[in-house]
Amino acid sequence: MSKTARPVVYLVGGGPGDPDLLTVRAYRLLQRADAVVYDRLVGDEVLDLVPRGAARIFVGKANGLHLMQQPEINALLARLATPGRLTIRLKGGDPFVFGRGSEEAEYLVRRGIDVEIVPGITAASGCAASAGIPLTHRGCATGVRFVTGHCREDKELDLNWQSLADPDTTLVVYMGLANVDQIAAGLIGAGMPDNIAAAIIENGTKAGQRVIVTTLADLPERVRRNQVRSPAIFVIGHVAALAATMPQAAAGWFLPAGQSAAESYHA
Ligand code: SAH
Repeated sequence: MSKTARPVVYLVGGGPGDPDLLTVRAYRLLQRADAVVYDRLVGDEVLDLVPRGAARIFVGKANGLHLMQQPEINALLARLATPGRLTIRLKGGDPFVFGRGSEEAEYLVRRGIDVEIVPGITAASGCAASAGIPLTHRGCATGVRFVTGHCREDKELDLNWQSLADPDTTLVVYMGLANVDQIAAGLIGAGMPDNIAAAIIENGTKAGQRVIVTTLADLPERVRRNQVRSPAIFVIGHVAALAATMPQAAAGWFLPAGQSAAESYHA
C-alpha cells in the first residue's frame, strides 16, 4: 500500500493562543483540513483557519466537565482517519507536553493508522516570551523544568519537592491553580527561598493576557486576590524578576492599580 492510501491523523500543536505563533506546517495543514478535533485551549482565531465545509469537533473540557472521555476521543480519531481525508487532532501548545498526545498517537499507531506529529510552541515558552521572562539567563538559571500541578481528584499532588526546590533551575508549573497552596508550601518546605520571584501568566499570548510578578510565598494569595483563571502557568525562579526589564514586558505587564513594579514584586 502506498503511503497516501493509508489513513493518517495529524497531531498538531496549536501553540499558546496567538495564531501568529502557529508553525508554518500547522498553518498549512489547518487550511486544508477536512476534519478537526480540538480542545478548549484552541482559540477561535486558530479555528478560523479551517475551511468552512470542514467538520469541527469540540472534545475539550467546559467548566470542568469532560465532554468526551479519552477512550471516546481515541475511537473518534480512529473513525475519522480514512484514506484521503485530512484529519487533524489539534491541541493547545505542543501535543507532546501535558496534552495526552502521545497516548492518542500510541492508540492510533496500534490500529495501523499513521500519525504525523506537528510540534507547537508550548505554553511555557510562549507565555514566558510574551511576558518578557527568559526561561534561562546567565547567572539566574542554568536550566528549566516543566511540571504539572494537577492531580486526579482523589489524589494528593505527587511531586518530588526536594528535586524541584532548586533556585538555579526555573520551574514552570502547568495547571497549578487549584493546588497553588500545596505547590508554594511544598517548595518552601523543601528549601526553596520563600522570597524567590514567581510570575503568574494568565491567557499568555492572547487578548487579555495578565502577568503578575510576586514572590513564591505570596503566590497563593496573589492567585486569589487577582482571581486568576485557567489557562495560567507559574514561572518560579530568579528569571521571573526580569519580567519588567525585558523588551516585551510592556505588552502584557499587569499591575494592580496604585502599585509600582517594585512594590508588586515585593508585595
Ligand atoms: N499541550 C499544552 C499544555 C496542555 S495542559 C502546551 O504545550 O502548552 C493545559 C495547561 O497549559 C493550562 O492549564 C495552563 O497551565 C497551560 N497553558 C496553556 N495555554 C496557556 C496560555 N495561553 N496561558 C497560560 N497558560 C497556558
